[in-house]
Amino acid sequence: MGTFTFAAPAPVGIPVVGQSALFPARRVYCVGRNYAEHAKEMGFTGREPPFFFLKPADAIVVVPTGATGEMPYPPLTQNLHHEIELVAAIGKGGKNIAAADAMAHIYGYAVGLDMTRRDLQLAQRDIGRPWDIGKGFDHSAPISPITPAAQVPGIETAPIWLRVNDQVRQKSTVASLIWNMAEVIEHISAAWELQPGDLIMTGTPEGVGPVVKGDLMTGGVEGVGELRVKVI
Ligand code: MN
Repeated sequence: MGTFTFAAPAPVGIPVVGQSALFPARRVYCVGRNYAEHAKEMGFTGREPPFFFLKPADAIVVVPTGATGEMPYPPLTQNLHHEIELVAAIGKGGKNIAAADAMAHIYGYAVGLDMTRRDLQLAQRDIGRPWDIGKGFDHSAPISPITPAAQVPGIETAPIWLRVNDQVRQKSTVASLIWNMAEVIEHISAAWELQPGDLIMTGTPEGVGPVVKGDLMTGGVEGVGELRVKVI
């Protein structure tokens, strides 16, 4: 391999529960409006085909087990929102993966925050422009360590929640996903070839809302783990 014009950035490595090797993050796919009650609070009703956007992998904030991550309050927004999400980490790639085969492609699960500059996202949405400035900004994807899939047998119905400081803001279960993980993988892999290292943020339940500097977000998915992030 040739040399680079300057030092190439190392891949983002996400800790894996029970081992020292890191999971090398490749892409961060995100599913929009994938819980009915959240779709309603965003002004939509009914089951739509799933749709996707991406965050850059270097927007991931790695938060080691037991640690509290730090997320700088981003520029240009007056309305930074939390979205707690179950994250599926892909271990085996593929394209045109059938839903019936999809779960075997999942290496493990993590807890993630799809942090959103809501004011910017909605301003772009309302004039038909891309969401990137609202969704794909620096530090916009705090993610917990990954728990291997075999250790999370009840994932399909696991409770998911988020507290801000001591107040519960989001509380649902993975069973309330409109498009379940297998269906999401089927749809994504029809449009892109999934590769090991890809992460899928599967969508957020209702209760999204603002955070400000100094707030502590504590979120979790039962059986997967907890994610603690302070806005600084
Ligand atoms: Mn989201």
